[in-house]
Amino acid sequence: MKYLFLSACLALGAALPIHAQDAPAKQFFGAHDEASNQRARSHGSYAKGCIAGAEQLAETGRTWQAMRLSRNRNWAHPRTVDFVQRLSREARDIGWNGLYIGDMSQPRGGPMLSGHRSHQIGLDIDIWMRPAMDLNLSRRQRENLSSISMRRAGGAFVNNNWTPEHHAILRAAASDPEVARIFVFPGAKVQMCNDETGDRSWLNKIRPWYGHHYHFHVRLRCQRGSRNCENQAPPPAGDGCADAQRWVNDILDPPPPQPRDPNAPAPQPRRELRVSDLPQKCVDVLNSR
Ligand SMILES: [Zn+2]
Repeated sequence: MKYLFLSACLALGAALPIHAQDAPAKQFFGAHDEASNQRARSHGSYAKGCIAGAEQLAETGRTWQAMRLSRNRNWAHPRTVDFVQRLSREARDIGWNGLYIGDMSQPRGGPMLSGHRSHQIGLDIDIWMRPAMDLNLSRRQRENLSSISMRRAGGAFVNNNWTPEHHAILRAAASDPEVARIFVFPGAKVQMCNDETGDRSWLNKIRPWYGHHYHFHVRLRCQRGSRNCENQAPPPAGDGCADAQRWVNDILDPPPPQPRDPNAPAPQPRRELRVSDLPQKCVDVLNSR
């Protein structure tokens, strides 16, 4: 009921009432199925922001298909859409037919009703590890087909689904100057560290992280013109391979749990983001036609 009231406020294009700014922001952002009619700009940070004037990635191109269309998360900054198209052409040159594209952002970005904490400013893209060979999938197939995991049981290593093409596509993505970092499970990073015989500088942007064995997550830098967009600090210098190897070693041989400091405050559950937590410009994005 409350949700319907909030949607009605949006449908009327009314400025957000003050009390509505205390409602979870995901309800407002989840209620929009079109981008705002504004110049393209990312506001805020990857996990606390929104995007004005997003562009929708076409559901199907010659070298890509957007997956899970029912989620309506194939929106992003126009430069992100350009990047996806560019990388998918490289994927074809490398030996796949293209890329299956998972979640990008909601039409106006912001927090989502389910899933991700980031993906809020139109600069994050999940790309399936499943090689995109058939680019004639129906809408229904794109709901039902799943990606495939690259991780061997136990969690430390890649499995037999990992190929030199995965290495080459991640290298192409990391070598793109627009890319700030790429998240992938630690076993894949170690594999790439061991297999790379040429230039290693691109490995700097490959960041080991939890999950990310069904897809890899590409994060672009803030784009020119987005003055309120907050970049992350760049990854530490170097190829990061020793760090990834340490992570893998900890999976194989977990360190004993650290005893909790009895004087430390108890960890707080993460609070839902409210509209008032986001940059002020995000209210304009919500209110724009
Ligand atoms: Zn992601």
